[in-house]
Amino acid sequence: MEENKKEIILDPWGYSSIEDYDKLFTLFGIRPFKEVIHYFENPSILMKRGIVFGHRDFDVVLRAFKEGKKVTLLTGFMPSGKLHFGHKALFDQIIYYQKQGFHINLALADIEAYSVRKVERKETIRLAIEEYVANAIALGLEKKNLRIYFQSATKPAYYRLIQMFSQKVTMAEMTAIYGDLTPGKIVSVFTQAADILHPMLEEFGGYDYVFVPVGADQDPHIRFTRDISDRFSSELGFRRPASTYHRFMTGLDGGKMSSSRPESAIFLSDPPEIVVKKLNNALTGGRATIEEQKRLGGEPLKCAIYEMYLYHLMPNDKDLLDIFMRCRRGELLCGEDKKLAIEKTLKFLDDHRKKLEQAKDVAESYIEEIPKF
Ligand code: SF4
Repeated sequence: MEENKKEIILDPWGYSSIEDYDKLFTLFGIRPFKEVIHYFENPSILMKRGIVFGHRDFDVVLRAFKEGKKVTLLTGFMPSGKLHFGHKALFDQIIYYQKQGFHINLALADIEAYSVRKVERKETIRLAIEEYVANAIALGLEKKNLRIYFQSATKPAYYRLIQMFSQKVTMAEMTAIYGDLTPGKIVSVFTQAADILHPMLEEFGGYDYVFVPVGADQDPHIRFTRDISDRFSSELGFRRPASTYHRFMTGLDGGKMSSSRPESAIFLSDPPEIVVKKLNNALTGGRATIEEQKRLGGEPLKCAIYEMYLYHLMPNDKDLLDIFMRCRRGELLCGEDKKLAIEKTLKFLDDHRKKLEQAKDVAESYIEEIPKF
């Protein structure tokens, strides 16, 4: 078992190597999302298509929600770069849950951006408002049933939690979950635990349950926070937070999709000529020659263009299946298919840009308090 665990590195701040998501079920105790999908009348495309693939205790939360208990979603964004389509997938989930009637708590992880990514304070605050909050509004996040806060600007009880948590954890326990930690990462870990658990305090809404949609690489934070919640269950009435896990989008170049590697992602602010260039250069599952492609068919499951359809551009399942089958049968060639992907992406971004301009004017009004420095 330990030998197997070494094959998967879950690093919340760096590169996570997950080739086989099913291994997360046996190695880390994450449960398959298909167990809980029946709770949703109209599951989102990310759920139906297996992009949201796993959960911890989400069934408990969904049952409680049906019984009328107070439930909130909590998730956070580290404002350290521009927003790309990988981030959009998480925003799409948040907006979906908001439409299902869940309350949303959104943390702007400026402490983490400062202490781990070393982003200058003013820039972090600007990115949080203009990139993250404005884009979320443009994508459809509504003001009702929503709280957006900066980690560095909320009520004192939140910071009290960070101090209390640090007293009940040993360095050995942290190292066992995270490996080597810098002081900045230690601060960030306790801050994230406070993010996840503080909505259960009366002054932050007194929610009975919190669930956290995250990328699979964030599972160490979830495991750590669930341990902490057990230790404070009688003192503060905490319940273990639940979580859901989604797959990462692969970068356009086949590597990790990341804000720090502009060629790996389409940013929601990319101008049309850059989008065209990036999609034309994207790695596909196409064969070396047209003759081979026609004979053997392409490999959509290894293709960045197909991923764009799967996550974002093709909500209709029949259309998606049609692309998949024509690609597999060698009836569709990559050049032709890229043209379609470019057309769809430009159309989406053109609409989005207009909404974003309006959203920028109101973004600050969505945030609880904006830190002064
Ligand atoms: S035909 Fe389309 S889906 Fe198939 S490999 Fe080429 S770009 Fe990808």
